Amino acid sequence: MNLERTLVFLKPDALQRRLAGEIISRFEKRGFLIVGMKLIHITEEFARRHYSAHAGKDFFEPLVRYTTCGPCIAMVLEGKNAVKVARSMLGETFGGESPSGTVRGDYSLSNRFNLIHGSDSTQTAEDEIKRFFRSEELVSYSREDIQWIYDTDGAGIV
Ligand code: UDP
Ligand code: MG
Repeated sequence: MNLERTLVFLKPDALQRRLAGEIISRFEKRGFLIVGMKLIHITEEFARRHYSAHAGKDFFEPLVRYTTCGPCIAMVLEGKNAVKVARSMLGETFGGESPSGTVRGDYSLSNRFNLIHGSDSTQTAEDEIKRFFRSEELVSYSREDIQWIYDTDGAGIV
């Protein structure tokens, strides 16, 4: 099994702007399997921990306020190279510098209000999945169309 899991969450602006369905749909259409999903209101403590790598930077406090200002939708996506592919679908950090065709490049102009978070490495993904979801909240299942998402005919999933 060479499938990988990554954590993404739709930030409060995505929900307030009613873009959640559109963004989730992109991941579905790409072929990802949604193995975890929930509506959450991130607490200040949780946001500080999640973004601790940015503690002390000038945008840290506004980032914590942004992350906690309304509900988010957290998801675990499963698929081949999930971490890298999902990040590429997000685009660049700054919406205005993000290429068209990406979530941020199609729907964001802001350096902060950029709609979505995605794990940036497989190690981060593992940590973030544990931070957002209890193991019993993740659902393992197979999908009928897997043989049309990948070539499953030979060895592995190609
Ligand atoms: N951010 C910000 N100002 C900046 C850089 C980042 O407000 O100058 C926010 C933005 O919402 C970004 C988050 O902080 O998504 C985390 O920053 P990071 O550099 O990790 O970007 P990401 O991994 O989300 O692309
Ligand atoms: Mg980051």
